[in-house]
Amino acid sequence: MRTLPDQEIVVVGGGLVGAAIAWGLARKGVRPLVLDGEDLAHRASRANFALVWVQGKGIGAPHYARWTIGSAKLWPSFAEELEEASGVDVALRQRGGFTFALSEGEMTMWTEEVQSVAAALGEDAPEHVLLDHAGTARMVPAIGRDVVGSIYSPLDGDVNSLRLFRALHAGMVNLGACYQARSDVTEILPKDGGFLLKGAWGEVFAGRVVLAAGNGNTRLAPMVGLSAPTVQSKGQILVTEKCEPFFPYTSTTIRQADEGGVMIGDSQEADTLSIATSQDISTVLAGRAARTFPQLSQVNVLRSWAGFRVKTPDGLPIYETSPIHPGACVVMCHSGVTLAANHALLVADAIAGRKATLADDRFSGRRFHVPQH
Ligand SMILES: Cc1cc2nc3c(=O)[nH]c(=O)nc-3n(C[C@H](O)[C@H](O)[C@H](O)COP(=O)(O)OP(=O)(O)OC[C@H]3O[C@@H](n4cnc5c(N)ncnc54)[C@H](O)[C@@H]3O)c2cc1C
Repeated sequence: MRTLPDQEIVVVGGGLVGAAIAWGLARKGVRPLVLDGEDLAHRASRANFALVWVQGKGIGAPHYARWTIGSAKLWPSFAEELEEASGVDVALRQRGGFTFALSEGEMTMWTEEVQSVAAALGEDAPEHVLLDHAGTARMVPAIGRDVVGSIYSPLDGDVNSLRLFRALHAGMVNLGACYQARSDVTEILPKDGGFLLKGAWGEVFAGRVVLAAGNGNTRLAPMVGLSAPTVQSKGQILVTEKCEPFFPYTSTTIRQADEGGVMIGDSQEADTLSIATSQDISTVLAGRAARTFPQLSQVNVLRSWAGFRVKTPDGLPIYETSPIHPGACVVMCHSGVTLAANHALLVADAIAGRKATLADDRFSGRRFHVPQH
């Protein structure tokens, strides 16, 4: 069995979360080894819709709303620093985002959601504007007659998600991190104040370990006294051929990428383990998109894919240092694009500084512990 040189810190998982943490650690002079899975592993990071999205986030959880808003505000400086480190422009656009309603019922439901977050946040609430059809059409002339109204919030935006992935990987290596693919960690043994990590690739001793393995955290976390429960959530996305720019903003279901193609998404399926795309879901997504922007009915769909979200039972992230083995922590979340700035600049700093609390303590996985009677 191959034994790698001892490491100060190992990050398990090289998706958007692990890569953001590794980049953030490297920029603080802590050079992690990143052990990642197989090339064909299911990664939420290669399947997402690429939004940096604030609107409606944090219903009943104002700490999550604040965490999300904070990350959206950090994004411009994060993107700039990442480009310096990697040479990759992630095409961040924060011109604002729309939620388009295709019925009065949808408009009422989403308005209530946004207003409940705003009421809980008070002065900290992100700006949002409720628009009827005419108000929406003034800002987005291409919308169809079926759009009864929309909610616009100026802080929302998007990036080129695959370029973000590439930038984090190139950037972390440029700053001194070491990345090793095809290195699934199957066992973590707390030992001598550190951790022995093992897999078919060999083993390595690390002083500290960061679990950032997406849905893989569920299996790994108990090995270091943590828990990371997840629920199934599959999303599907369609991508069209490139077309002339028609929508300079972004939205929860339709966005035109910087390269011209239109992404249409994203669905929510809870009860399936199959990664295959579904024709029925594609039909619903395409139908809603064509009602929102009628010109899309003339555009060819080139690709579709599905991916599994990294979703905890309450949909909120988990940031937690192990109470039993303080050198280990877990970081996982559903909105890894939106929160990438927080992960790279705040959570990584907390890990580098050996802080016991990585973010608001309410994000600890202890919230899922059921008392045993
Ligand atoms: C359809 C869809 C749309 C989305 N849209 C958005 C959006 O618009 N905005 C947004 O902010 N977020 C969005 N997300 C969520 C976002 O993509 C995820 O939050 C993010 O990618 C999670 O990254 P991750 O690194 O935790 O997980 P992953 O990308 O799944 O990466 C986990 C990594 O860990 C590795 N791994 C797993 N187990 C092990 C192990 N035992 N040893 C070593 N390595 C291991 C895997 O190989 C993988 O590389 C979306 C997700 C989906 C599926």
